[in-house]
Amino acid sequence: MASSRIFAPRGTQDGLPGEIRMKRFVESVFMEHCRCYGYHEAHTPVFEYSELFERGVGPVTDIVEKEMYTFTDKHGERLALRPEGTAALARTIIEHDLTKDLPLKLSYKITCYRQENPAEGRLREFHQIGAECYGSLLPQADSEVITLAYTALRAMGIRDLTLNINSLGCQSCRTSYINALVRYLLPHANSGELCSTCVSRMGRSPLRVMDCKNPSCREVAKKAPKLADFLCDDCRDHYEGVKASLDAVGIPYNEKNHLIRGLDYYERTVFEFKAGEGGANGTVCGGGRYDGLCARLGGPNIPAVGFAIGEERAIIAMRESGMEEIPPEKPLVYVASDAPSRASRGAARLRGLGVYAERDLMGLGLKAQIKAAKDCGARWLVITGEDGIRLTDLKTGAEQPMPTEAWDDVARAISE
Ligand code: ATP
Ligand code: MG
Repeated sequence: MASSRIFAPRGTQDGLPGEIRMKRFVESVFMEHCRCYGYHEAHTPVFEYSELFERGVGPVTDIVEKEMYTFTDKHGERLALRPEGTAALARTIIEHDLTKDLPLKLSYKITCYRQENPAEGRLREFHQIGAECYGSLLPQADSEVITLAYTALRAMGIRDLTLNINSLGCQSCRTSYINALVRYLLPHANSGELCSTCVSRMGRSPLRVMDCKNPSCREVAKKAPKLADFLCDDCRDHYEGVKASLDAVGIPYNEKNHLIRGLDYYERTVFEFKAGEGGANGTVCGGGRYDGLCARLGGPNIPAVGFAIGEERAIIAMRESGMEEIPPEKPLVYVASDAPSRASRGAARLRGLGVYAERDLMGLGLKAQIKAAKDCGARWLVITGEDGIRLTDLKTGAEQPMPTEAWDDVARAISE
C-alpha cells in the first residue's frame, strides 16, 4: 500500500541549493560589513524561557499575544521558540557580564519563529541577520547601525531603498503623548472605526494602535497627534543628532511621524528600510533604540541600538532589483577512468588539495564519462589509466601526458 505524502509545515520554506546560495551571499555581504564596522558574531539558543520575550518584547504586542510558539517541556518549563533576536542577545550579555567593556558591538544570524498568516515574505520560520550596539547614548551609535544596514542592503544589490525614521521619545515624553493619543482615539473607538484588537489594547498599550495593519485603523492612525510634538529637550536633541549624523554620511531618510514599530522595547529612535513599492511585506529591515531593555531584563541600565534584516525579504527585494540567480560552482576537473578505484584515488587526492573534482558514481563507461565531463561544465578532464595520466583542457582540446599518480603536478597545472 502506498503511504500518503507528508508536506513541510505551513509557513516554512525548504532551502533548496539555489535559495541557499542567495542566503549565503546575503549573509556573507552582511558579515563582511559587520567585520568592517567591528560587530562580532554571537549566538543564542533557538528556545528561551517564554518570560524573556513576554518581558522583553512586551506582553501587549503581536509577537507575544498572537505569534509566539510556546510550549511546556517535560519538566513543566514554559519555553518559546525565538521570535526575534534582541531580547535573547540582551539576556546573553547580562548573563555573561559583558557589560563592563563598552561599547559592545555584536551581530547575529538566526532563525526566528512566528505563528503568522503565511504570505510572500511572511513566513512562520524565517531568518534574520542583525547588529546591535550596547553602551552608547550618542546619536552617532544610531547612525552607525543605520549606515551598516544601509550599506549592506545596497551591497546585496537592493535598489530603491527607502529609510523611514522617527523618534518615540523616552518614557516621560511618551507619557504625555499617550494621554493625547488616547484622547484622540476614544471617539474613533466608540464609532467602531478601530478593530477589536486595537479597542482591547487601548487601555493597556494605545501606541500599538499606531502599528495596526487593519486599513480602517491605519486611516485613524494617519491623523493622530504626532510624537515629534511631544519630545522633551533631550529626546529632541538626540533625534536632531541622529539626523545630522545621517546627513554627514549622506544617507537619505524620510521622517515618518507615525512610525512606531511593533516591539515595546523601543524608545527614542525607530527606523525601517522598505524596498521597492514597500507594501505590507516590503519592509526588509527594522530597528531602533532600546535603552531600557537591559534593565527590564534584570540587568544594568545600558543603552542600546540595533536592527534586524529579514533574509527572505532581502532576497525578494534583490530579485525585484534585477539580481540574477547565483549559478552553482562548476567542477574544475573531472576524473575519468575505466577502473573506478583509480578514479576514486585521483579524485580524493585532488579534493585533498582543495580542488573541486567530480567523478562518475553512476557506473558509466569511459566514453560516457568523457561526455559527462563536458556536460557538467568541468574545465579540465583527467583520464587516469594504468600507465599514466592524460590531462585535457576542455576549452582548447590541448592534451598533456603526465606520470602515474602525479596528482600534485595535475593540481598545479589546472590551478594556474
Ligand atoms: P512586519 O511589520 O512586516 O510584521 P515586524 O515589525 O514584525 O515586520 P521586526 O520584528 O522588526 O518585523 O523584524 C525585523 C525584520 O524581520 C522585518 O523587517 C522583516 O524583514 C523580517 N520579518 C519579520 N517577520 C517576518 C516574517 N514573518 N517572515 C519573514 N520575515 C519577517
Ligand atoms: Mg510582524
